[in-house]
Amino acid sequence: MSEPVLEATDVRKRYGETVALGGVSLTIGAGELFGLLGPNGAGKTTLISIMSGLTDADGGAVKLFGRPLTRSARDLRRLVGIGTQDLSIYPDLSARENLRFFGKLYGLGGGGLRDRVEEVLAAVGLTDRADERAGRFSGGMKRRLNLAAAVVHGPRVLFLDEPTTGVDPQSRNHIFRHVKALNAAGLTVVYTSHYMEEVQALCTRIAVLDDGTLRACDTLPNLLKRLDGRVRFRFAAAPPGFAARLEQLPGAKKVVPADDGFDVTTDAIPELLPRVLALAAEHGTTVTAIDPREPTLERVFLHLTGRELRD
Ligand code: ADP
Repeated sequence: MSEPVLEATDVRKRYGETVALGGVSLTIGAGELFGLLGPNGAGKTTLISIMSGLTDADGGAVKLFGRPLTRSARDLRRLVGIGTQDLSIYPDLSARENLRFFGKLYGLGGGGLRDRVEEVLAAVGLTDRADERAGRFSGGMKRRLNLAAAVVHGPRVLFLDEPTTGVDPQSRNHIFRHVKALNAAGLTVVYTSHYMEEVQALCTRIAVLDDGTLRACDTLPNLLKRLDGRVRFRFAAAPPGFAARLEQLPGAKKVVPADDGFDVTTDAIPELLPRVLALAAEHGTTVTAIDPREPTLERVFLHLTGRELRD
């Protein structure tokens, strides 16, 4: 991993009887687009509000750029931008006025503020609508303005909490593009979502959070490797004893009869396919259909947590 930007060690948080985080440790490297995936109530918002210095943990520690992060570490907190789940923009102000306001909060002013506001307006595609009241914006435009407000002061790390809540698919794609562009320009991004497809499409590394506990934290290919794939083969005619021969093929882990053929479980789909074709030819039959089921993040999640994300 690149140089660590954020290091959380055994972070704990309770709200009364509710354990929101039961000891979470993770490290995020410079320039990562890091995904925090978990169902509602998993503890994502709690974790990022602690990792961004908005909330103090009950136990454990967070270091940002190697320095302890607490609510009182103001200079350190300036390096952080936060796109909260609840919109923080002011409906009575225009988009431009909103961004000027947030810039001033962080101590920007004069020509520097003016230039920066224009830069982020362009970055989220709102230059043409900059003087309209934010309250009249569509859900997607509000989200884009919220994103702009989170980065107007030029943070080094950006936390986004469910940034596509309440937006249509087109605006969602807009937001994806802006997040990717910000990340490509060097910003480290921590992105929370309960949508599997979002973290799968965007994130270089994914932490799976459930019930306040980290179930896994890895790259998508490595997460997928945790599960075997399955291929359904159909045969013109399967001679007697064929299942046993299939089971003996290198890479085949389990063979179960399934309509006109077999489901073969394997950790190596590409290697298995030619072997099955060769075996069929050897037995004087042909493969009439191949339906590979690669592992998906959805199945990995089910495997790690014992339940579907969309419960
Ligand atoms: P997520 O962002 O993954 O939906 P949260 O971090 O918001 O999860 O919540 C984790 C758990 O902590 C949930 O059980 C939630 O009800 C509880 N919780 C969060 N914030 C508060 C709060 N301010 N007061 C009481 N309970 C809270």
